[in-house]
Amino acid sequence: MLALGCHLSISGGYEATVRTAHSIGANTFAFFTRNPRGSQARPEDPADAAAAVKLMEELNFAPLVAHGAYTMNLCTAEPSARAFAASILADDLRRMAALPGNFYNFHPGSHVGQGTDTGIAQIVDALKAALAPGYPVTVLLEGMAGKGSEIGGKFEELRAIIDGVGSPDVGVCLDTCHVYDAGYDIVNDLDGVLREFDRIVGLDRLKALHINDSKNPFSSHKDRHECIGSGSLGVETFQNVVCHPVLSGKPMILETPNELPGYANEISLLRELGNV
Ligand code: FE
Ligand code: FE
Ligand code: ZN
Repeated sequence: MLALGCHLSISGGYEATVRTAHSIGANTFAFFTRNPRGSQARPEDPADAAAAVKLMEELNFAPLVAHGAYTMNLCTAEPSARAFAASILADDLRRMAALPGNFYNFHPGSHVGQGTDTGIAQIVDALKAALAPGYPVTVLLEGMAGKGSEIGGKFEELRAIIDGVGSPDVGVCLDTCHVYDAGYDIVNDLDGVLREFDRIVGLDRLKALHINDSKNPFSSHKDRHECIGSGSLGVETFQNVVCHPVLSGKPMILETPNELPGYANEISLLRELGNV
């Protein structure tokens, strides 16, 4: 069975969110660990987390893919802001221990003019410090569209971070919109892109996918998500993705511009496409 879900709010708690996901045909989901544009996190509720873990087991859920705040920039230039971002990462990973065995995905960061090498070194430092206590979570670097000074739009940059951290607990989450916007042609040559990913990063590091169509053309470096089939990727690309033997077992998360009913429709569409 495909592991499909979408981005959901955890404002009602983890267990309630598992029920919401199940009600729309999902068997995984994503959520922001804290306010996506601020830094505030919800108060911790170990009983709720334990109930969610139990329910996910009963419902046969695939691993969740938590998402770090967009504002967390581990390679911002100002040292105290950078230290604050690193402390947010460490706190997020500590919190993920309440949901053992799940994924924590985040945007590697924007080097804001410091240069790619400096940015990568700063991201590596933050990850090494945050991962040191050995929390039961795999951290996923999200592949980015390469907008502005964003790091992670090239497979080589993801590889450099992974090498720098030197931990088996670092993987990658590829976002179909981002990877196409970044100049990897998954519309015409999904196999070729996966071969290149394997050569540079290694397919064993690919742990999850974000499933989004793109509002923009190939290699636009824009990052604007579109509903499945309504953008430049098109339904056939998603059919290839959900049917691909290398990808079909991984958690796939929709981040399309939808409310719950739209997500339910896209999940059932993707299940149909995968059912060939
Ligand atoms: Fe993201
Ligand atoms: Fe994404
Ligand atoms: Zn995006």
